[in-house]
Amino acid sequence: MTEWKTRTKLVHSGSRRSQYGEMSEAIFLTQGFVYESAEEAEARFIEAGPDEFIYARYGNPTVRMFEERMAAIEGTEDAFATASGMAAVNGALTALLKAGDHVVAARALFGSCLYVLEILGRFGVEVTLVDGTDLDQWRAAMRDGTRAVFLESVSNPTLEVIDVKSVAEIAHEKGATVIVDNVFATPTFSKAVALGADVVVYSATKHIDGSGRCLGGVVCGTKNYIRKVLEPYLKHTGAALSPFNAWVMLKGMETLDLRVRTQAANAQAIAETLSGHAKLSRVIYPGLPGHPQHRIAMDQMGAGGTVVTLEVAGGQEGAFRFLNALEIVMISNNLGDAKSIITHPATTTHQRLPAEQKVLLGITPGLVRLSVGIEDIGDLLADLRKALDAV
Ligand SMILES: *Cc1c(COP(=O)(O)O)cnc(C)c1O
Repeated sequence: MTEWKTRTKLVHSGSRRSQYGEMSEAIFLTQGFVYESAEEAEARFIEAGPDEFIYARYGNPTVRMFEERMAAIEGTEDAFATASGMAAVNGALTALLKAGDHVVAARALFGSCLYVLEILGRFGVEVTLVDGTDLDQWRAAMRDGTRAVFLESVSNPTLEVIDVKSVAEIAHEKGATVIVDNVFATPTFSKAVALGADVVVYSATKHIDGSGRCLGGVVCGTKNYIRKVLEPYLKHTGAALSPFNAWVMLKGMETLDLRVRTQAANAQAIAETLSGHAKLSRVIYPGLPGHPQHRIAMDQMGAGGTVVTLEVAGGQEGAFRFLNALEIVMISNNLGDAKSIITHPATTTHQRLPAEQKVLLGITPGLVRLSVGIEDIGDLLADLRKALDAV
């Protein structure tokens, strides 16, 4: 059989049909599974085969379809689905680490990811935070006891792009496991595993659902890591993805590539058109040649992604006027949706960061994060331009 291309995999990989031969993937909304005999139950608890399930916290046929489809897309041997992106991040790190271990992580992390690292600290894991774009800092932070490296390949909201290949080389010299939170890169533009990542984590809540319905997450990795390291932790701590949500994610995956490519093309057009606009002091987008990591972004994603970050002139007041004047683009803090969404990080997602941290991460009062949707690009540009006139 020839290797399927991404768009074929997104529609067909992992599908399991019941005896009814249903076209659309079935939702197996069941907690448990019935055994033909006591002997069969005993055998399954000793070792469950690929189509044998025990309890939905351990696995479920609909959830398994989603996991296998994600592993096929990401190019990993296996995957484990979780109830949210944060359950995936927490599981990927906590399952691997123990007291006395050392972790090096990029400083520009999603707030909840930073919090997970804080919790690990309480249990005796030492964490060193570095500027993710500075390879010398990664090198200097690595030690013999460094067990894992954690990073967001594209940071939120300032869209710094981390050189995954170089960081993975540095980490692997010390035998550390490289865990990449790849939400902003999206599965469509991900080459994380080819670049050297050992474990790739997604919040499926974002582009994979793509229509703002369900929370979900997934961890992709080797069979050994997923089944021997991660699964024992996750199946006993209860972060299982609901079969209904797994089904929504499967349906989302069918159109993922179409949506994300349209979103990225819209984002590129918006970044190019608004660059140099009098009401904007900065347009940050990895697809612009002037972006500090433009070359790395092109090498490791082949596109600039679906998010554009703008700095509105006039600080918070200017940013608020801009947001309030938008008609199509909605004010909300999610991203990756088919609808365009804008947020003001300094007063929402990053509100609780101390002022000096905000400065360090470049989260200025005028900064807004625009998650670009699939709407008509002419309509989007007209909406953005009109709202900028109101600043
Ligand atoms: C949203 C997000 C998460 C958390 O995902 P949830 O599904 O909301 O739990 C983790 N990392 C990044 C980069 C995200 O954008």
